[in-house]
Amino acid sequence: MTARTFTRRDAGLMFLAATGALAATPFGRARAQALEGTQVIVIGAGIAGLGAARSLKNQGAEVIVLEGKPHIGGRLLTDWSMGAPFEVGAGWIHGPEQANPSRQLADAVGAEYVVTDDENAVYFHANGDEFGEDDYEEMSDGWESVVEHIDETFERNDPRSLLKAIRAYDSDLLDDPRVMWAFSAWTEFSKGGPIEDLSAILFNADKAFDTPDVVVTTGYDKILGPLAVDLDIRLSHTVTEVSYEKGDGVAVETDKGTFEADYCICTVPLGVLKAEKIAFDPPLPQRYRQSIDRLGFGSVTKLALKFDEPFWDVETQYFGIVTEPKGRWNYWLNYRTFSDENILLGLSVGAYAPVADKMTDAEMTEDGLDVLRQVWGDDVGTPTQVLATHWATDPYSLGAYAYPRPGNSRSDYDGLARAVEDCLFLAGEHTIFDYAGTTHGAYMSGLRAAEAVIEAES
Ligand SMILES: Cc1cc2nc3c(=O)[nH]c(=O)nc-3n(C[C@H](O)[C@H](O)[C@H](O)COP(=O)(O)OP(=O)(O)OC[C@H]3O[C@@H](n4cnc5c(N)ncnc54)[C@H](O)[C@@H]3O)c2cc1C
Repeated sequence: MTARTFTRRDAGLMFLAATGALAATPFGRARAQALEGTQVIVIGAGIAGLGAARSLKNQGAEVIVLEGKPHIGGRLLTDWSMGAPFEVGAGWIHGPEQANPSRQLADAVGAEYVVTDDENAVYFHANGDEFGEDDYEEMSDGWESVVEHIDETFERNDPRSLLKAIRAYDSDLLDDPRVMWAFSAWTEFSKGGPIEDLSAILFNADKAFDTPDVVVTTGYDKILGPLAVDLDIRLSHTVTEVSYEKGDGVAVETDKGTFEADYCICTVPLGVLKAEKIAFDPPLPQRYRQSIDRLGFGSVTKLALKFDEPFWDVETQYFGIVTEPKGRWNYWLNYRTFSDENILLGLSVGAYAPVADKMTDAEMTEDGLDVLRQVWGDDVGTPTQVLATHWATDPYSLGAYAYPRPGNSRSDYDGLARAVEDCLFLAGEHTIFDYAGTTHGAYMSGLRAAEAVIEAES
């Protein structure tokens, strides 16, 4: 996701203090071997799983992490094959103030950052003409007015989608491609779902840390290094079944054998839970299953195109392009603003992202180039290298990040984190409403699950 200029800011530190998460960070003071002799299986070696495992191991537990892929990281993974970091999943540390746990992890590995400046952007109409001042103002005013309208007039449990809220405020906005661009490139990107299916009252109700977003020029996934040190991580172990019984612990079946422990923390993405790729025995209680089914899980598609020469203004950080349909490669990040590489990173969001995910890399490249030609015509060169993501079809994710659908409530997220029979805990970005869809949220959920194991032991 990119900068959340148009979302609410809040004091995230309060959350951390309230949950005691800071005290449990791997860099904080560990409780003296409180968990000696306790066995825990963590499913998934993303930032939630690694955070939970690190915290538990620091406190004396015997931990095994089972990861289906042949590498750690999950949705936090950096590909260096283009010479600059291509972030396959998370690209920004959102609100990298000191209290942000992802910032703390990044500082601990000496990460280097560049602030991405939302103001350093040029926007284009579908015909390739640049936006004038008025266009920009109408676009942001339209976005802000709808948000204000929702805040001021919608009841707390209003079941309408964001699209319906726009219509209720001023249906003409639906025909204004500039405003619809903003709802797509800003909101659909930030929330990971289409405005047709986003909850009007919840899409902007989460929390955020402060200070402008940064990209990590030394590679985002390096922040996982210290979490993974000395952990027993079994890569290429795909979990197929989790059996659990109060007082009796858990048995976790994988394609490479069965593992047993006192507790299990399951951090697989919401898409994997939705698709029932893992069988639970007994089945998860109904209210968990209902929340899993109810919550939204969309996609965000990234396409990095590397060229010999830039045909764009290398000083401009972002290019916004009005496209049809609206989520199609409508926002581009210029790598020249933080690296020497001539790379443009395009984003497809909303309803278009799952469509893009199903394309081959060659089809996706043509589709992306087509959009660039709207603006730069024949100046658009032939890419020398291409990297593309397909999160919706990745069997270990089946989407990008959780989003609130009409009729959802905060407890659809937070309720998933409640202990099941005192031995099974779910964690991951989809279990923490206030910080869902972020690396820091996922990490905090992992620490929270580790705390829950400690509580269950005491
Ligand atoms: C395209 C994209 C852009 C994003 N942009 C940002 C951003 O800019 N900033 C930000 O803060 N966040 C961003 N996010 C969100 C962020 O990446 C996630 O919230 C976070 O990384 C999720 O961590 P997690 O540990 O909950 O899940 P994951 O990282 O997905 O970890 C779950 C692990 O479980 C494994 N697994 C799945 N099924 C099985 C199985 N059956 N057996 C064993 N293992 C299994 C998976 O392989 C994976 O490693 C983005 C995500 C995507 C996809």
